[in-house]
Amino acid sequence: MAKIFCVANQKGGVGKTTTAVNLAAGLAKLNQRVLLVDLDPQGNATMGAGINKAALQSSIYEVMLGMADVATARARSETGQFDVLPANRELAGAEVEMVELDNRERRLKDALAAVDAEYDFMLIDCPPALSMLTLNGLCAAHGVIIPMQCEYYALEGLSDLVNTIKKVHAKLNPDLKIIGLLRVMFDPRMTLSQQVSLQLEQHFGDKVFRSIIPRNVRLAEAPSYGMPGINFDPVSKGAQAYISFGAEMIERIKTL
Ligand code: ATP
Ligand code: MG
Repeated sequence: MAKIFCVANQKGGVGKTTTAVNLAAGLAKLNQRVLLVDLDPQGNATMGAGINKAALQSSIYEVMLGMADVATARARSETGQFDVLPANRELAGAEVEMVELDNRERRLKDALAAVDAEYDFMLIDCPPALSMLTLNGLCAAHGVIIPMQCEYYALEGLSDLVNTIKKVHAKLNPDLKIIGLLRVMFDPRMTLSQQVSLQLEQHFGDKVFRSIIPRNVRLAEAPSYGMPGINFDPVSKGAQAYISFGAEMIERIKTL
């Protein structure tokens, strides 16, 4: 059975996609069979995995609306050695079109069930909103990985996300857990980063991953080459940090 994780945070630009793509590539390097699910109409995870979102035959949009199955819509990331259920801006329409469908928060869960045996991990890159798309991600997953920047406003948004996860856990998906908070774009020279990081550890204890992802320009450059950062420049600090995060994830899920 595949382990399914959402990478979620309703704040924009906090490193969700970078985390999803690099964790997918990191797990693939550790010989895991991975499906990266792009649940964001921006299609950034699709592009970052080296797949042209403008030239898709079918995508997660058709899958969510029951017009294609995952096996048909998925593509292969040659640069990352994992499969991708790709997205593009069409997906924004699904949000509206799903309103009329039965079981609308479980569309993704039901679709992914058909390929469950083919993967060890499925990673879902969520859009920056607590929307029907994100709800589909949370209903399909066993756990949530929350990337966050260690800045003052980061903590403010966190309580909304944690409350949403609690509600989904209570009403829709009893399997759902917070796997952990991942500190990303970390700048150890900033006192504020250190302080917020410490606050997170005090408040959330071992829910905070030990691995810390530094701010690293190689991670930001990699998507323009259609490559995960860890394949683009494997010796960079950012790549090393995501590889260590991959190993920590494998260790952590043993305790789930
Ligand atoms: P959105 O909410 O729009 O989906 P996101 O949460 O998925 O955004 P990313 O797209 O992963 O965030 O990252 C936002 C920007 O920050 C991107 O330009 C990305 O390349 C850059 N970035 C992410 N992580 C790092 C890092 N560790 N070091 C340097 N740049 C980073
Ligand atoms: Mg993103």
